[in-house]
Amino acid sequence: MLIDTHAHVNFRSFKDDAEQTLKRALDAGIFVVNVGSQIDTSRQAAELAGKFPEGVYAAIGLHPEHTHSQYVDEEETHFKTREEDFNESWYEELVAHPKVVGIGECGLDYYRLPENVSLHEQVKQKQIEVFKKQIRFAKKHNKALIVHSRPEKGSDELYEHMLQIFAEEEIKKLRFVVHSYTHTPEFLQKFLDLGAFVSFNGIITFDKTGNMEELVKMAPLDRILLETDCPYLAPIPMRGKRNEPGYVRFVAEHLAKLKGVELQEAENLTTRNAKTLFGI
Ligand SMILES: [Zn+2]
Repeated sequence: MLIDTHAHVNFRSFKDDAEQTLKRALDAGIFVVNVGSQIDTSRQAAELAGKFPEGVYAAIGLHPEHTHSQYVDEEETHFKTREEDFNESWYEELVAHPKVVGIGECGLDYYRLPENVSLHEQVKQKQIEVFKKQIRFAKKHNKALIVHSRPEKGSDELYEHMLQIFAEEEIKKLRFVVHSYTHTPEFLQKFLDLGAFVSFNGIITFDKTGNMEELVKMAPLDRILLETDCPYLAPIPMRGKRNEPGYVRFVAEHLAKLKGVELQEAENLTTRNAKTLFGI
């Protein structure tokens, strides 16, 4: 069996067929963790998890791009994000749900900053503050933390900030995953040294730079998780389609190839890692 540790079947792209999509995954032996990006998608993730007796879980949290209002370009659809704060009392209600296994996705996103450069420092400070709140919340409830990170092109600043936050907040006391990591091997090593899991998705199937191959090869198999990040980032051979949890098997196949192990071994280890991280 496989676990798609980072899916968004709770997002609008699946509004007409979320339950059928999840059922398709379960029938194929794939468990799913749907990840929230703000309060309404967090609620939706918990609600979907509640509809299945087994195999569908939720993470709740506030994505950094929703901590300020801006236009973003996600897979060529333009939308304006709503500004939200991490209102702990809203999340307290959700975290009691038995299928909520993680906090996130939260973290830092310096890729899409507002056009007005004078606002950049303010936006970064807000993201840092909201990220710290969620780290403390995860600690308080003993939940896994799902970390999003997307740096400005060619800059290490985001990762330097993140390591500083991790030191201040004693991240070592938490179980956490750095999701969809695509930056340098040096920072990946620093995260691994702090006890992080790292999750890979369809990007490893279509990256032509060699960077993802290097990252996959250096990460030990007992720290790797698989994910789709659906509806985005469909893997080869599904490029251009709406991604879904079932396609995590293409990521698993490619990972096994890059690691030079049997598919079964890649499945077993990544599934065991996901269960350890989320306590399922
Ligand atoms: Zn995501």
